[in-house]
Amino acid sequence: MTSERMICLKCSLEAGSAVFYEMTKMGVTVRYGYHRGKFRADIWECPRCHHKVIKGFGSEYFVSNDDDVDFDLYEGHRRGDRK
Ligand SMILES: [Zn+2]
Repeated sequence: MTSERMICLKCSLEAGSAVFYEMTKMGVTVRYGYHRGKFRADIWECPRCHHKVIKGFGSEYFVSNDDDVDFDLYEGHRRGDRK
């Protein structure tokens, strides 16, 4: 569990007080870069500008099917051999 908080700098400067990101979705599944495995993480959103970030990554895990990937940012298949 993460307890770090994040401030949206742009909104805070505009509003004149700290605008904190809020966790809007817990436990999404993300794959990115060249990792063959997946990661669980959380989506945080600025309540003012609705900018979203993904943070709070757990450790990489491996399962055989890809059906449960919410955000597939895998880059490995961009290197030529398409199916
Ligand atoms: Zn913002």
